[in-house]
Amino acid sequence: MPTMEEALLEIIAALKASDSEPSQQWLDKLLRRHNRAAHDGRRTVAKRRLLPFYLKAKASDPERWRAWAVDEATEERLVRLLRAKPRRTASGVATITVLTKPHPCSSACTYCPNDVRMPKSYLADEPACQRAERNFFDPYLQVMARLSALQAMGHGTDKVELIVLGGTWSDYDPAYQAWFVAELFRALNEAGSPGMGSAAVAQAVAEREGRYVQAGIACEREARAAEAAPLQHAVDAGALTYNQAVAQAYGEGGWKAVVAWQRATLAEVEAQHRANEQAAHRCVGLVVETRPDLVAPEALALMRRLGCTKVQMGIQSLDDAVLARNGRGIGCATVARAFRCLRAYGFKVHVHFMVNLMGATPATDRADYARLASEAPFQPDEVKLYPCVLVGSSRLMAAHQAGEWAPYATDELTAVLADDVRATPAFTRISRMIRDISAHDIVAGNKRTNLRQAVEERLTAEGAAVHEIRHREIATSAVEPGQLRLDEVAYVTVGTAERFLQWVTAEGRIAGFLRLSLPERSLEQQALQPTAPNEAMIREVHVYGIAARLGHSGEGAQHQGLGRQLVERACAIAAAEGYGAVNVISAVGTREYYRRLGFQDAGLYQRRPLPGAG
Ligand code: SF4
Repeated sequence: MPTMEEALLEIIAALKASDSEPSQQWLDKLLRRHNRAAHDGRRTVAKRRLLPFYLKAKASDPERWRAWAVDEATEERLVRLLRAKPRRTASGVATITVLTKPHPCSSACTYCPNDVRMPKSYLADEPACQRAERNFFDPYLQVMARLSALQAMGHGTDKVELIVLGGTWSDYDPAYQAWFVAELFRALNEAGSPGMGSAAVAQAVAEREGRYVQAGIACEREARAAEAAPLQHAVDAGALTYNQAVAQAYGEGGWKAVVAWQRATLAEVEAQHRANEQAAHRCVGLVVETRPDLVAPEALALMRRLGCTKVQMGIQSLDDAVLARNGRGIGCATVARAFRCLRAYGFKVHVHFMVNLMGATPATDRADYARLASEAPFQPDEVKLYPCVLVGSSRLMAAHQAGEWAPYATDELTAVLADDVRATPAFTRISRMIRDISAHDIVAGNKRTNLRQAVEERLTAEGAAVHEIRHREIATSAVEPGQLRLDEVAYVTVGTAERFLQWVTAEGRIAGFLRLSLPERSLEQQALQPTAPNEAMIREVHVYGIAARLGHSGEGAQHQGLGRQLVERACAIAAAEGYGAVNVISAVGTREYYRRLGFQDAGLYQRRPLPGAG
């Protein structure tokens, strides 16, 4: 009978015997050989189990691990070889997605799912939703669970981007917002902290779970589904709205009891922030999602105090007739105001945009997206571009049954999306092309999980030039800094002149970028922005490569001075344009980095005065 240990020892011996990196094919062949030795057809040695096996032995059986004699360099190569889903940290950071608890939304969009087990617009079968439900929607438990899973897959977790999903962030009580963020940071600070061993962390997790259990809250899928079934039935039958059902389910009993301690002050958040500046798992980005009508200076100032760096905003369309037909309750002018306000506060703007909404046609969809991508009031930094699909619990069901909405044919959909990609400029990233909705929840519409691949194949066959960022990312490839050129793209939005600085290879692949906003000095703009009129704003600095351990050289473009050079170039541009200082919307875990680059803490941002400024 072959064992994991035998296979692992053979891999370790091969790594020690040669400086060249073994290929995945070599690994597959080795595993097949070990499994054949079982003679019973069972795959006892699976790649995905090897790394967890290794890490577990190292943590819980040190004597056995020492006998394997794995030095630090060999361990790094072993992790690289056995890492599962390397693309997951290819953008340079480990991403952790968490969900807030179910909560009413003041809109009622036609296509939006109404799953009473989830925050509005999410479905219990989506992977992040399943994790959230298993963890009582508790931020601390969700982060702890995700950190262990990522580590077991061999991913570095010293740089973490936290993505908070769930309806509309600014609809939640500010005290809950503060608690949620404080607990996210507490988990990052306590996991891997020298003062808190793994036993103490396990105990903290168990105590936290115990509080929910004591309050009578279930976390098992079957139990939650059974509990929610009567209310879900009432919503599906139109007897209750989602908001009414959620108010009943979460405004009473155990959920009402936990509200008493799901609150924190901003001082508590700031204490966790300070600890995170030196923590083993640093937050390098915090993203929340909201609606355009809730984007206002006070809400954005609060987001900044909580440490947010990026805002996801559902806009779906810029066509007022389509927005009205789909019950959005928001028009294009509100969307334009929200964009301006977000940029004035320095946020990265990540929007959700849909094709095939009720009332749209392929032609109007193309024109609508072209406006989003190119007109001055809009021009997002990132887009989740996806087709409308029909899920059973949404109000779109009735429209579909009445023949008022139908999904585009496969080829038509691919053609629209391909044209949208073609229209996307070099400074915009299309982050996704489908929602994570499982096929069995989709009554009508796209079920292909590889939709993006189909779109890209079409573009390749047509010989189209693709400029959007994700298509050009160097991802997991190594990069020679000497082969990179610093390219600058200038564009104008309402309220700012933008400079997108990008490190590119000769083929146009992108290794890093920076977004610099140069605000207008108009009275209107000054009234909107939280910084002085003669101050520029760095809205984002991103360098690609496998997430490198802080202070290590890394495998890709990170830590080769590319970020620092981007910042220096941005400061030089701002100085040449007559600005007296540059602010940066830094994440809590990057404050130290910016201090080293000459930035000082200055309220909601960090600021660096420019030469010649009075
Ligand atoms: S605003 Fe968002 S969450 Fe609320 S109903 Fe519309 S799509 Fe759903």
